[in-house]
Amino acid sequence: MIDDFSPRTQRLRDGGHKLTHARLTVLRVLEDSGGHITSSEVLERVNQVDASIGRASVFRTLDLFTHLAIIRPTYLNSSITPTYVLMPNGHHHHIICTQCNQVIEFDECGLERMTAELETRFGVKLTGHLLEFYGLCERCQ
Ligand SMILES: [Zn+2]
Ligand SMILES: [Zn+2]
Ligand SMILES: [Zn+2]
Repeated sequence: MIDDFSPRTQRLRDGGHKLTHARLTVLRVLEDSGGHITSSEVLERVNQVDASIGRASVFRTLDLFTHLAIIRPTYLNSSITPTYVLMPNGHHHHIICTQCNQVIEFDECGLERMTAELETRFGVKLTGHLLEFYGLCERCQ
């Protein structure tokens, strides 16, 4: 069961969005995924939890979550459909091997200063970033 006061449900509330059953179900599926999940996996798992939640409703919810910077679509493993990644505290970082497609996750990015500079320079309010480095892993070099 999702804690109603988790940062993600709070972000939904702050944005004036109702915590509908469909939204909470999609959120739980995303959180249980461990951080990476494709849209078809989301559909499949939501359907297992509650078959009455329709496909269109799931896609609308994924769009809303993307809009709220709770998730970001990315294209891992040369997939045709996007993989959604969760944005804990607005950060998500990858190193992707262009040879074997291995994805290395890391926590610290040290981009706080750059974030503040970009906000000043462009007058924007930044909510998060997905950072991807590409290269060759140890084995593929
Ligand atoms: Zn970061
Ligand atoms: Zn590799
Ligand atoms: Zn990741």
